[in-house]
Amino acid sequence: MHPLYQGAQFLTAATRIEQAPPDQGREVAFVGRSNAGKSSAINAICHQRALARTSKTPGRTQQLIFFSLDAERRLVDLPGYGYAKVSEAIKLEWQGQLARYLEGRLSLAGLIIVMDIRHPLAAFDRQMLAWALRRDLPTLLLLTKADKLSRGAVSATLAQVRKEAAALHGEIHCEPFSAPDRLGLESVQARLDLWLAPSPQIDAA
Ligand code: GDP
Repeated sequence: MHPLYQGAQFLTAATRIEQAPPDQGREVAFVGRSNAGKSSAINAICHQRALARTSKTPGRTQQLIFFSLDAERRLVDLPGYGYAKVSEAIKLEWQGQLARYLEGRLSLAGLIIVMDIRHPLAAFDRQMLAWALRRDLPTLLLLTKADKLSRGAVSATLAQVRKEAAALHGEIHCEPFSAPDRLGLESVQARLDLWLAPSPQIDAA
Protein backbone atom coordinates (compact mmCIF):
# COMPACT_ATOMS: atom_id res chain seq x y z
CA MET A 1 0.00 0.00 0.00
CA HIS A 2 1.16 3.50 -0.77
CA PRO A 3 -0.53 6.12 1.45
CA LEU A 4 -0.06 9.04 -0.95
CA TYR A 5 -1.93 7.32 -3.80
CA GLN A 6 -4.35 5.51 -1.54
CA GLY A 7 -5.53 8.91 -0.33
CA ALA A 8 -6.26 10.23 -3.84
CA GLN A 9 -9.51 12.18 -4.01
CA PHE A 10 -11.56 13.59 -6.83
CA LEU A 11 -10.74 17.29 -7.10
CA THR A 12 -12.47 18.63 -10.20
CA ALA A 13 -13.49 17.84 -13.77
CA ALA A 14 -12.61 20.35 -16.48
CA THR A 15 -14.30 20.40 -19.88
CA ARG A 16 -11.94 23.16 -20.89
CA ILE A 17 -8.38 23.83 -19.74
CA GLU A 18 -9.52 27.15 -18.21
CA GLN A 19 -11.48 25.16 -15.62
CA ALA A 20 -8.37 23.29 -14.45
CA PRO A 21 -7.08 23.87 -10.91
CA PRO A 22 -4.34 26.51 -10.53
CA ASP A 23 -1.17 25.52 -12.37
CA GLN A 24 0.93 25.09 -9.21
CA GLY A 25 2.71 22.22 -7.51
CA ARG A 26 3.19 19.04 -9.55
CA GLU A 27 0.95 16.67 -11.40
CA VAL A 28 1.26 13.54 -13.53
CA ALA A 29 -1.27 12.86 -16.29
CA PHE A 30 -2.57 9.56 -17.65
CA VAL A 31 -3.70 9.36 -21.22
CA GLY A 32 -4.78 6.45 -23.38
CA ARG A 33 -7.09 5.38 -26.15
CA SER A 34 -10.59 4.48 -25.04
CA ASN A 35 -10.70 1.02 -23.48
CA ALA A 36 -6.90 0.81 -23.17
CA GLY A 37 -7.28 0.20 -19.42
CA LYS A 38 -6.44 3.68 -18.14
CA SER A 39 -9.15 3.90 -15.47
CA SER A 40 -8.32 0.41 -14.21
CA ALA A 41 -4.64 1.39 -13.98
CA ILE A 42 -5.43 4.58 -12.01
CA ASN A 43 -7.70 2.65 -9.64
CA ALA A 44 -5.06 -0.06 -9.10
CA ILE A 45 -2.31 2.51 -8.47
CA CYS A 46 -4.51 4.31 -5.94
CA HIS A 47 -5.81 1.09 -4.36
CA GLN A 48 -9.36 2.24 -4.96
CA ARG A 49 -12.18 0.50 -6.74
CA ALA A 50 -13.94 3.43 -8.32
CA LEU A 51 -11.76 6.53 -8.24
CA ALA A 52 -11.51 6.69 -12.03
CA ARG A 53 -14.58 5.42 -13.82
CA THR A 54 -14.03 2.21 -15.72
CA SER A 55 -16.45 1.73 -18.51
CA LYS A 56 -17.47 -0.78 -21.09
CA THR A 57 -18.67 2.15 -23.19
CA PRO A 58 -15.51 3.49 -24.80
CA GLY A 59 -15.23 7.20 -25.37
CA ARG A 60 -17.58 8.27 -22.60
CA THR A 61 -15.15 10.48 -20.75
CA GLN A 62 -14.70 13.89 -22.37
CA GLN A 63 -13.26 15.81 -19.45
CA LEU A 64 -9.90 16.30 -17.81
CA ILE A 65 -10.35 14.80 -14.36
CA PHE A 66 -8.09 16.03 -11.55
CA PHE A 67 -7.42 13.98 -8.41
CA SER A 68 -5.62 15.52 -5.47
CA LEU A 69 -2.97 13.55 -3.58
CA ASP A 70 -2.12 16.37 -1.18
CA ALA A 71 -2.11 20.17 -1.31
CA GLU A 72 0.70 20.28 -3.88
CA ARG A 73 0.35 17.08 -5.91
CA ARG A 74 -2.23 15.74 -8.34
CA LEU A 75 -2.97 12.95 -10.80
CA VAL A 76 -4.90 13.78 -13.96
CA ASP A 77 -7.06 11.49 -16.07
CA LEU A 78 -7.10 12.83 -19.63
CA PRO A 79 -9.76 11.88 -22.15
CA GLY A 80 -8.91 9.46 -24.92
CA TYR A 81 -10.51 9.81 -28.34
CA GLY A 82 -9.58 6.62 -30.13
CA TYR A 83 -13.12 5.37 -30.63
CA ALA A 84 -14.58 5.17 -34.11
CA LYS A 85 -18.13 6.16 -33.11
CA VAL A 86 -17.08 9.60 -31.91
CA SER A 87 -17.56 12.23 -34.62
CA GLU A 88 -14.59 13.95 -36.25
CA ALA A 89 -15.68 17.30 -34.80
CA ILE A 90 -15.64 15.92 -31.25
CA LYS A 91 -12.27 14.22 -31.81
CA LEU A 92 -10.81 17.51 -33.01
CA GLU A 93 -12.21 19.37 -30.00
CA TRP A 94 -10.71 16.82 -27.58
CA GLN A 95 -7.46 16.83 -29.47
CA GLY A 96 -7.29 20.62 -29.13
CA GLN A 97 -7.90 20.49 -25.38
CA LEU A 98 -5.30 17.74 -24.95
CA ALA A 99 -2.72 19.61 -26.99
CA ARG A 100 -3.25 22.81 -25.02
CA TYR A 101 -3.00 20.95 -21.73
CA LEU A 102 0.06 18.87 -22.65
CA GLU A 103 1.92 21.73 -24.25
CA GLY A 104 1.08 24.45 -21.77
CA ARG A 105 0.61 22.97 -18.32
CA LEU A 106 3.65 24.00 -16.27
CA SER A 107 2.92 21.80 -13.25
CA LEU A 108 2.84 18.71 -15.48
CA ALA A 109 5.88 16.68 -14.40
CA GLY A 110 5.33 13.49 -16.35
CA LEU A 111 2.98 11.69 -18.71
CA ILE A 112 1.81 8.07 -18.54
CA ILE A 113 0.56 6.76 -21.87
CA VAL A 114 -1.58 3.68 -21.16
CA MET A 115 -1.67 1.20 -24.03
CA ASP A 116 -3.18 -2.26 -24.40
CA ILE A 117 -0.08 -4.45 -24.71
CA ARG A 118 -1.75 -6.23 -27.61
CA HIS A 119 -2.01 -2.96 -29.60
CA PRO A 120 0.94 -0.77 -28.58
CA LEU A 121 1.98 2.55 -30.12
CA ALA A 122 -1.16 3.29 -32.11
CA ALA A 123 -1.38 6.62 -33.95
CA PHE A 124 -3.00 8.24 -30.89
CA ASP A 125 -0.16 7.07 -28.62
CA ARG A 126 2.46 8.33 -31.05
CA GLN A 127 0.78 11.74 -31.16
CA MET A 128 0.82 11.97 -27.34
CA LEU A 129 4.46 10.91 -27.30
CA ALA A 130 5.34 13.52 -29.92
CA TRP A 131 3.74 16.27 -27.82
CA ALA A 132 5.59 15.06 -24.71
CA LEU A 133 8.93 14.93 -26.53
CA ARG A 134 8.43 18.42 -27.90
CA ARG A 135 8.58 19.84 -24.38
CA ASP A 136 10.99 17.26 -22.91
CA LEU A 137 8.30 15.84 -20.69
CA PRO A 138 9.35 12.51 -19.12
CA THR A 139 7.01 9.76 -20.30
CA LEU A 140 6.11 6.26 -19.20
CA LEU A 141 4.62 3.89 -21.75
CA LEU A 142 2.47 1.59 -19.65
CA LEU A 143 1.70 -1.65 -21.48
CA THR A 144 -1.35 -2.87 -19.67
CA LYS A 145 -3.48 -6.04 -19.87
CA ALA A 146 -0.19 -7.98 -19.75
CA ASP A 147 -2.18 -10.85 -18.21
CA LYS A 148 -3.76 -11.34 -21.65
CA LEU A 149 -0.43 -12.45 -23.16
CA SER A 150 2.10 -15.19 -22.40
CA ARG A 151 5.28 -14.17 -20.61
CA GLY A 152 7.24 -14.64 -23.81
CA ALA A 153 4.89 -12.41 -25.77
CA VAL A 154 5.04 -9.74 -23.02
CA SER A 155 8.86 -9.74 -23.17
CA ALA A 156 8.89 -9.59 -26.97
CA THR A 157 6.44 -6.66 -27.09
CA LEU A 158 8.32 -4.84 -24.35
CA ALA A 159 11.61 -5.24 -26.20
CA GLN A 160 10.06 -3.97 -29.44
CA VAL A 161 8.46 -0.92 -27.80
CA ARG A 162 11.66 -0.14 -25.87
CA LYS A 163 13.63 -0.30 -29.10
CA GLU A 164 11.29 2.13 -30.81
CA ALA A 165 11.34 4.43 -27.77
CA ALA A 166 15.14 4.44 -27.60
CA ALA A 167 15.28 5.78 -31.15
CA LEU A 168 13.27 8.85 -30.11
CA HIS A 169 15.88 10.32 -27.76
CA GLY A 170 13.72 11.48 -24.90
CA GLU A 171 13.12 10.34 -21.35
CA ILE A 172 10.81 7.48 -22.23
CA HIS A 173 10.28 4.56 -19.87
CA CYS A 174 8.36 1.44 -20.66
CA GLU A 175 6.77 -1.06 -18.24
CA PRO A 176 4.34 -3.98 -18.44
CA PHE A 177 1.24 -3.71 -16.25
CA SER A 178 -1.82 -5.69 -15.28
CA ALA A 179 -4.60 -4.29 -13.11
CA PRO A 180 -6.06 -7.63 -11.95
CA ASP A 181 -2.61 -9.17 -11.32
CA ARG A 182 -1.23 -5.91 -9.89
CA LEU A 183 1.80 -6.43 -12.07
CA GLY A 184 4.01 -3.36 -12.40
CA LEU A 185 2.23 -1.50 -9.62
CA GLU A 186 5.34 -0.78 -7.57
CA SER A 187 7.33 0.34 -10.62
CA VAL A 188 4.66 2.85 -11.57
CA GLN A 189 4.35 4.13 -8.03
CA ALA A 190 8.14 4.54 -7.81
CA ARG A 191 8.09 6.46 -11.09
CA LEU A 192 5.28 8.70 -9.79
CA ASP A 193 7.23 9.26 -6.56
CA LEU A 194 10.17 10.54 -8.59
CA TRP A 195 8.14 12.77 -10.86
CA LEU A 196 6.02 14.20 -8.06
CA ALA A 197 8.94 14.83 -5.70
CA PRO A 198 9.46 18.56 -5.18
CA SER A 199 12.41 19.88 -7.14
CA PRO A 200 14.11 22.53 -4.95
CA GLN A 201 15.90 24.27 -7.83
CA ILE A 202 12.74 24.72 -9.89
CA ASP A 203 10.20 25.19 -7.11
CA ALA A 204 12.32 27.78 -5.29
CA ALA A 205 12.75 29.84 -8.45
P1 GDP B 1 -10.25 3.00 -20.16
O1 GDP B 1 -11.35 3.27 -21.15
O2 GDP B 1 -8.90 3.14 -20.77
O3 GDP B 1 -10.38 3.76 -18.88
O4 GDP B 1 -10.34 1.43 -19.83
P2 GDP B 1 -10.94 0.68 -18.56
O5 GDP B 1 -10.00 0.76 -17.41
O6 GDP B 1 -12.36 1.08 -18.37
O7 GDP B 1 -10.84 -0.83 -19.08
C1 GDP B 1 -11.47 -1.24 -20.28
C2 GDP B 1 -11.75 -2.73 -20.16
O8 GDP B 1 -10.52 -3.46 -20.06
C3 GDP B 1 -12.56 -3.10 -18.93
O9 GDP B 1 -13.43 -4.16 -19.28
C4 GDP B 1 -11.51 -3.57 -17.94
O10 GDP B 1 -12.00 -4.50 -17.01
C5 GDP B 1 -10.48 -4.21 -18.86
N1 GDP B 1 -9.11 -4.11 -18.31
C6 GDP B 1 -8.46 -2.99 -17.90
N2 GDP B 1 -7.22 -3.26 -17.46
C7 GDP B 1 -7.07 -4.60 -17.58
C8 GDP B 1 -5.97 -5.50 -17.31
O11 GDP B 1 -4.87 -5.12 -16.84
N3 GDP B 1 -6.20 -6.83 -17.59
C9 GDP B 1 -7.37 -7.27 -18.10
N4 GDP B 1 -7.49 -8.59 -18.35
N5 GDP B 1 -8.42 -6.46 -18.38
C10 GDP B 1 -8.26 -5.14 -18.12
